[in-house]
Amino acid sequence: MQDYDAIVVGAGPSGSSCAIFLGRKGVKTLLVDKASFPRDKTCGDGITGKSSGVLAELGIESEIAEGQHEKINGLITSSPSGVSLDSNADNKPVETSTYVCKRLIFDNILFQEAKKKADVIENFSVTDLVIENGKTIGVKGTENGEEKEFRAKVVVGADGANSIVARKLGLNEFKPDRSLVSVRAYYENVAGLRDRIEFHFLEELLPGYFWIFPAGNNVSNVGIAVVAGDVPKRKLNLKEKLDEIVKKSRFAPRFKNAKQVSEVKGWNLPTGAQKRKRAGDGFILVGDAASLIDPFTGEGIGNALLSGKQAAEVISTAVEKNDFSYGTLGEYEVRIDRLMEKEFRTSYKFQKFGKNAIMFNALVEELSLDKNSMKMATSAFSDATHTTASFQIPLGLYVKVFIRYLRDYLNFKMRRKPSASY
Ligand SMILES: Cc1cc2nc3c(=O)[nH]c(=O)nc-3n(C[C@H](O)[C@H](O)[C@H](O)COP(=O)(O)OP(=O)(O)OC[C@H]3O[C@@H](n4cnc5c(N)ncnc54)[C@H](O)[C@@H]3O)c2cc1C
Repeated sequence: MQDYDAIVVGAGPSGSSCAIFLGRKGVKTLLVDKASFPRDKTCGDGITGKSSGVLAELGIESEIAEGQHEKINGLITSSPSGVSLDSNADNKPVETSTYVCKRLIFDNILFQEAKKKADVIENFSVTDLVIENGKTIGVKGTENGEEKEFRAKVVVGADGANSIVARKLGLNEFKPDRSLVSVRAYYENVAGLRDRIEFHFLEELLPGYFWIFPAGNNVSNVGIAVVAGDVPKRKLNLKEKLDEIVKKSRFAPRFKNAKQVSEVKGWNLPTGAQKRKRAGDGFILVGDAASLIDPFTGEGIGNALLSGKQAAEVISTAVEKNDFSYGTLGEYEVRIDRLMEKEFRTSYKFQKFGKNAIMFNALVEELSLDKNSMKMATSAFSDATHTTASFQIPLGLYVKVFIRYLRDYLNFKMRRKPSASY
């Protein structure tokens, strides 16, 4: 048993970034993970612009740029009717750093940096919290079958979607209509790849989507994400659905000569549409453990990194004040709300709006006719300073979308085909 200022449980993007920032501030930190690194994490591997600010502060952008990855210069979105938008239709090199980098590589770069700043134990699986008088004061766990206990002034739950820290604190409420679930596999030799990440909104997945992300060396990360509550409602088998899309949909020609080179793996995505208590006496939750994934795009790495940084700043103030109660740690919740709540609200509205295929088609089809609006809309998903929170539909466009929607809806009612020939 050894005492620390902070114990961080989980060394993914949220935990490693938190440990790095804590170490820089001289906070005595222990970082534990049940895995040994490098380890994989089921993900789309899309490190979007939102991450770039924190990565630059962490000083590891160049290391990522040196390893295997694909530098991304734009985003392709397609509607259920098959109309495509390209965020970089002029094909100019973009300033922001969006990468597709396998999590096996990306997380290990972060973890190796964290190792320089904190004490680290791998293969240590946390099984319980030590709580005294309602205050979290440590963790219990096993390392190679041996039981161990560590104490600290604050415990940071950075242990992902199935967080044991959140569960032990009773903060893991799961609402299927506010969570996403996803499967992915790696493929070699997918045809038609460009330096773009691709989101294809297929009717059977709405408001979810099918993605193709080029990951370097002719390998692509391919998957689908849907609202968790839709899985039982629509009797979806996600692995079979991915296989069906790859073999039988309009994407099949691109996969004709492709080879699946990994198993299909699935995982949950706890989103910001479900607000969790994120701090209390002696604890803070970050990343997926705090339910910080964007409810529409499924991006979680950027908010994981950002929450790790915010947690470290608040904890360092708590160390200075020697106060680890909610009175001081609660500042973390205020900061997360300020930075992310608008994004979560807007993205959740998108999620609900995206269920209507005719409306979705009308929006994408109108955006495809208006370059400026298309740029504005897609930058909300691909750029460093924007999130879905900055998505604004100009009044003129709003009217056009509505008129198109009415026309297509009436056509649909009269059993005619929607207008999609652009
Ligand atoms: C299929 C899929 C695709 C996705 N695609 C994208 C994408 O392209 N871009 C994007 O931005 N986001 C994506 N996300 C979301 C993203 O993966 C997460 O938001 C991100 O990994 C959160 O980071 P984290 O550090 O909070 O948690 P994690 O990355 O899950 O890390 C948690 C760590 O905690 C450790 N741990 C767990 N339990 C314990 C325990 N009991 N004791 C000790 N250690 C423990 C784990 O071993 C792990 O290392 C995707 C998610 C899924 C499921």
